[in-house]
Amino acid sequence: MKYLFWLLVIALAWWVFTRPRKADTHASEQSAAPAQDMARCAHCGVHLPQDEAVRGEKGLYCSTEHRSAALDRNPA
Ligand SMILES: [Zn+2]
Repeated sequence: MKYLFWLLVIALAWWVFTRPRKADTHASEQSAAPAQDMARCAHCGVHLPQDEAVRGEKGLYCSTEHRSAALDRNPA
C-alpha cells in the first residue's frame, strides 16, 4: 500500500510538472512571431528582421547595395 501511495505522488508530481511546461512553450511559440518586427526591402521586397535592415532615405533595405541601387534608380 505504501508503494502505491508513492507511485500516486510521483505520478501527480509528474503531471503537475509537465502540464504548465507544455502551455509555456505553446505560448512562447505564439508570441515569438509578432515580437520581432519585420521590415521589407524597398528595392527587392525581401522580408528581414528590422534589426538587420539598412535604413535609407526612402525606406528600409536588406543591404547597403540595395539602398544605393534604389537611390540610383530613383535619384532624389
Ligand atoms: Zn533588397
